[in-house]
Amino acid sequence: MSQRFYSTKSPEIFVDVKEAVLRSLPSDNGLYMPEHLEELPAEFWENWREMSFSEMGFHIARQIFRDSVPEEELRRIVKETLSFEVPVVKATANAHVLELFHGPTLAFKDFGARFMARLMCYLTRNDEGLLTVLVATSGDTGGAVASAFHNVEGTRVIILYPKGKVSGLQEKQLTTLGGNITALEIEGTFDDCQRMVKSAFLDREMSERLNLTSANSINISRLVPQSFYYFEAARQFENAPVFVIPSGNFGNLTAGLLAEKMGLKVKHFVAATNANDVVPAYLESGKYEPRESVATISNAMDVGAPSNFARMENLFGGTWEGMISRIRGYAFSDELTRATIGRVMLDTGYMLEPHGAVGWLAAEAWREEEGNRQDETILLETAHPSKFLDVMEEELGEGTIEIPERLACLADREKVAIQMKPDEATFHRWLQSLA
Ligand SMILES: *Cc1c(COP(=O)(O)O)cnc(C)c1O
Repeated sequence: MSQRFYSTKSPEIFVDVKEAVLRSLPSDNGLYMPEHLEELPAEFWENWREMSFSEMGFHIARQIFRDSVPEEELRRIVKETLSFEVPVVKATANAHVLELFHGPTLAFKDFGARFMARLMCYLTRNDEGLLTVLVATSGDTGGAVASAFHNVEGTRVIILYPKGKVSGLQEKQLTTLGGNITALEIEGTFDDCQRMVKSAFLDREMSERLNLTSANSINISRLVPQSFYYFEAARQFENAPVFVIPSGNFGNLTAGLLAEKMGLKVKHFVAATNANDVVPAYLESGKYEPRESVATISNAMDVGAPSNFARMENLFGGTWEGMISRIRGYAFSDELTRATIGRVMLDTGYMLEPHGAVGWLAAEAWREEEGNRQDETILLETAHPSKFLDVMEEELGEGTIEIPERLACLADREKVAIQMKPDEATFHRWLQSLA
C-alpha cells in the first residue's frame, strides 16, 4: 500500500508523497498529514528494544511512507540521516536529558534537514531543472538545512533570517557556505520571514517555475525522523516517560504526537515555551490567539503563530479537551531561564543552554504537580550550549563554554548576505530575477 497525504483544510483531497514533500504547503494554506497513521505491527514491538537505532528508524519511516519509497532507498536515507549519537543523560534521579545536538550543526534540526534533503533528492532523481529550497529561520533551521543541502547537485537553498535576531555563530552557519546556498538578511522579525516564504508558495506560477520547495517545520518529511528519537529515548525506560519539549513552531512536539499515534507509550507531553506562550495560553483557556512574537534569549522559540498548530489540532480531532488530555503547557521568563542555567550547573553539573533551561523549568513544574513526583521526565535538549555563547558566558562566566571545532572554524569566515526589507513584493521580484 502506498501512502497519501491530505491537507488539514481539505481532508477529502489527497496527494502523493512527492507532491506533499516537494510542495510542502498545500494550495489551501493548510498542512499535509498522512492518510494512514496507524500503530506499528506486533512484530515491531517484539524486538524494538534490541534493534539498532537506524533499523528502528527505518521501520518507523516505513510506517509513514509505506510503499511510496522503496525499502532499500528508505533504509539508506534513514541510515545517512542518523550519522551521529543521540544519548540520554541522567541529570538527577528523575530528570533525564535527550541530547539532540550531536549532529553537524549542533541542533536537533539536523535530523529533519538531513532526512528531507535525502528524500527530496530521491524524489526528484528524474526531474529537470534546479530544485529551489526556500527556508525562513529564527536560528537553527537555516543552518541545518544549509548544511544538509550544501553541494547537493540539482538544488539551491535560499535562507531568510531576521537581521540581528540570530546569534553570531548561527549567522555564520547561514552565510558562509556559499556555492548553492544564498542568505537573505531581512530587516524584520522571524514572522516576517515566515510570511514572505508562505507568500512565495501561494504564488502558484512562480512556485512551479522555480520548482520551489520548503524546508521549514511545515514540511511533513521533517517530522518523520524527529519521531525516531522519541522511540529511541522511551525504549531505555521500563515505564512510559513524560516528554518535555522546548517549543516554537511545535514541529518537535508534533513529531512526538506522531510517535504516539504509531503506538509509542508516552505518559504525557509537556510543552515548554518562553514569553511567546500562545500554546500554553490556549491549553489554559481554550482560546487560540496567535500574535506578534517577542524577542527572548531562547530565540529559536520566538514564534507568535506556531506553524504546526493546525496539525496538533488535527491530531486531536479539533478538540481542546483532546489536546489537554495529552499536553500540558508552561511558559517562563528570560529571567527565570537565566537563573536556571546557573542553578542546574551548580546543583547537577549539567550544562543547559537557554532552550533546554526553559524545558528544565517545565519538567520541574510538571513533577511538582500533585501525583507526578515519581515521573521520569525526558527533556529534549535541542541545541549545544556553544550556539548561545553570549548568554551562556553571562550566566556561567567567560571561558566556561567549549566550542566544538566544526562551529569554531566558522568564526573566521566571511559573512555573505543580501539585505532586504520585510516586503513580499520586493522578495517576489528578487525571486523572479533568479529564473
Ligand atoms: C527550532 C528550535 C526549537 C523549537 O522547535 P519547534 O519544532 O519549532 O517547536 C527549540 N530549540 C531550538 C534550539 C531550536 O532550534
